[in-house]
Amino acid sequence: MNPPFHLAKKEDLKHIGIGQVDDSAIKARTLKLMDEFRKFSRSFSAMLETCTRCGTCANACHSYLGTDDFNNIPAARAGYLRAIFTRYFTWYGRLFRRFSGAREFDDDTLCSLVSYFYQCNACRRCALYCPFGIDTAEIVLAGRNILTSLGLAPSFIVSIARNEILTGNNTGILKPAIIDSCSFLEEELRGETGLDIKIPVDKPDSEILYLPSSSELFTNVDTLMGAAKVFHHLGVDWTLSSVMLEAANYGLHFDLEILKKQNRRMRVAAAAVGARKVIQGECGHGWRVARMYSEGADGPVNFQLEHVLDFVAARLQRLSLSRLPIRATLHDSCNYGRGTGLLDSPRLLVRACVEEFVEMTPNRERNFCCGGGSGLLMDEMKDLRMQLGKMKAGQIKDLQPLDYVAAPCASCKAQLPLVLKHYGMGDTACGGVMDLLGRALVMDNERRIEGNATGNHVK
Ligand code: SF4
Ligand code: SF4
Repeated sequence: MNPPFHLAKKEDLKHIGIGQVDDSAIKARTLKLMDEFRKFSRSFSAMLETCTRCGTCANACHSYLGTDDFNNIPAARAGYLRAIFTRYFTWYGRLFRRFSGAREFDDDTLCSLVSYFYQCNACRRCALYCPFGIDTAEIVLAGRNILTSLGLAPSFIVSIARNEILTGNNTGILKPAIIDSCSFLEEELRGETGLDIKIPVDKPDSEILYLPSSSELFTNVDTLMGAAKVFHHLGVDWTLSSVMLEAANYGLHFDLEILKKQNRRMRVAAAAVGARKVIQGECGHGWRVARMYSEGADGPVNFQLEHVLDFVAARLQRLSLSRLPIRATLHDSCNYGRGTGLLDSPRLLVRACVEEFVEMTPNRERNFCCGGGSGLLMDEMKDLRMQLGKMKAGQIKDLQPLDYVAAPCASCKAQLPLVLKHYGMGDTACGGVMDLLGRALVMDNERRIEGNATGNHVK
C-alpha cells in the first residue's frame, strides 16, 4: 500500500481506541461494516445505487480538475466503494457481475480506497451539480470510517485526534501554557490599544464560552486578538476553556465515535464555566460538527450555539469601524457555504471593514474549495495540495491586484497562503474576518465602561 501520506502506527491507533484487523479478516470486516452503514443510512445505499455515470460531477471537482487524475472524478472515487456494494449487496451485482460494474473486494481496491478517499476534501461541491444530488463527500466519509475500523488512517489525523481527546486541543498543550499564551496576547493588545483587554481562561460564571479555531493561540493570533477587541468593545462576558480550547473536531474526517466523544466535551466545557451561550470561532469543520451533529448525536444542548460571525454581524451597528484602504475578497469555507449556510454574515462584515470588496466567480455555495479541508493539511501531501488548490488560485488570480483574502477557517488559513505563493500571488495576504474587524475597529473605552455599569450585558 502506497498512499500519499503516512499511515498511523498500531500503537498510535490504540491511544484513540482503534484496533487493527488481521489481513485475513479485512474483507469480512469491510463487508460487515458496509452492511451496517446501508442499514443505518438509506441515503448511503441510495447514493451508491443511483449513479448513471453521466460525468457531470467531473467539472465540479477541484480535486479532479487540479490533479487531472481520472480516479479523482467524484463518480470514480465513490465508484471504488460502489463497485463493492454492487457486488455484495445488490441482486444485479450478484447475477450480472461483468455488466453491473460489480467488483470483487481485493487488495487493489483497498489501496485505491485509502489513496483516493484522502484526496477528497469532502467539500460537497459535486453534490450541487449531480442531477441526483449524490453527495460523494458523504460516501467518502463513510468509507473513511470503514477504513479507520480496519486500522487504516493517516498518522497526521490520528495524532491530532489523540491530542483533542487527551487535552481538548490539537497541539496537546496544558492549562499553564494556555494561560501563558493568553497573557502574552493580552500584553500585545495593551501595547497596541492602551486598553486592558482580557483573554480569560476558565473564568467561572461566564455568560459566553468562546471556542476559537485551533490555530488562534499560536499562528493566527490576529483572529483571537480581533475577537478579544470586539468582545471588549461590546462588553461581552466571555471566557476560553482549558477543557475544550478550540472548536476543531477531527473525528468528522475519519471516525464518527471520536466525533461524538469530542463533541460531548463542548457540553462539559460550557457547564464548567456556567456558560449560557457557546460561540464558535473561525473553524469551518468545527462549526459544521457543532451545528449539524451535536443535537442529533446527543440530544438538545442547554445553551445557545452561535457562530462568532453571526454574533458580531447582529451587533454591527454597535461597532465603530474605520474602513481599511484595501481591496479584499472572501473565500467561502466549504463547511460554511455548503455545510451550514453561513454565507451572509462574513460578507456583511468584510464589506464593513474595507474600502473595496470584490466577489470571486463563482462564489457563495458554488465557490471552489481551497484544497486544505477534511484533514489533508499533512506536510507530505503539500505538493498534491497545491494541485488541489489550482481552481482556487485561478479564482483569486482573476481578481488581481488584490490585497487580502478573508478566509474565516483555520484550514483555509493554513492552505491559502501556500497556494497564493505557489501560484505567484505572494503579495496577497490571507487571514480571518475577525482580524479585519480588529484592525478596523475604533476602540471606545468609555462606551464599554458605560455599558458594563448599566449591566448592559450582551445576550
Ligand atoms: S453527476 Fe451524479 S450521476 Fe452523474 S456521474 Fe457524477 S455522481 Fe454519477
Ligand atoms: S466532495 Fe469535493 S473533493 Fe470530494 S469528490 Fe466531491 S467535489 Fe471532489
